[in-house]
Amino acid sequence: MNTDIVANLEEVKSQIESICSKCNRSSEEITLIAISKMKPVEDIRTALECGQVEFGENKVQELTGKMEELPDERVSWHMVGQLQTNKIKYMIDRVNWIHSVPKKKALKEIEKRAEAAGRQINVLIQVNISGEDQKSGCEPEALPELLDYARGLKYVRVRGLMGMATLTDDRDQIRSEFALLRKLRDQHKDAYDEPVKLEHLSMGMTHDMDIAIEEGATMIRVGTAIFGVRDYQ
Ligand SMILES: *Cc1c(COP(=O)(O)O)cnc(C)c1O
Repeated sequence: MNTDIVANLEEVKSQIESICSKCNRSSEEITLIAISKMKPVEDIRTALECGQVEFGENKVQELTGKMEELPDERVSWHMVGQLQTNKIKYMIDRVNWIHSVPKKKALKEIEKRAEAAGRQINVLIQVNISGEDQKSGCEPEALPELLDYARGLKYVRVRGLMGMATLTDDRDQIRSEFALLRKLRDQHKDAYDEPVKLEHLSMGMTHDMDIAIEEGATMIRVGTAIFGVRDYQ
């Protein structure tokens, strides 16, 4: 057992507490998603034994492999990586949240597969907040159209927005990108009702979770600070 994980989890939780108290938020508003990509299932088990139940992966193949290896009902699985529409079917039986839905085609495929599986799937729309071409996510202007489309779906439940900030040391830039995601969420929040409910903002990773929480994140996706550095991304 990797005992570092036990200590790391405690440390991350206490960081969340202190960031929240500084910005007058309750830590109960924040869901910590442990991103276990490229780490073995035994590391996930260690975290699970510490009470961590939300886990995220960024590749469908790795996610489905781990879901099979660890068929524990306590685990809530999150797909957070770039989404290939043709792979949605492989995870639909078990995945609980898909954070990275960038377009109508993906919503349509999730609806179709979820209906066949007889399950409802929680979805976040990924928005391109960094302005970088290589990052996936819909453009902010395209968001209303996607949300309108999602309104008509029965098995897809849009629960919020997800964004990734530019990989930079410029904390002001990161902050303004997270603030944009929050602004978009606030703008559209009241215009929609079930099944589109914009209650969540998934933003912030190991290096920028403090800024994300200050800017209103309700879900943070933390890998390195819990499981240690990865050999490559
Ligand atoms: C890897 C990854 C994370 C976690 O990154 P860390 O820097 O290790 O905390 C969060 N979100 C996504 C989409 C990722 O791919």
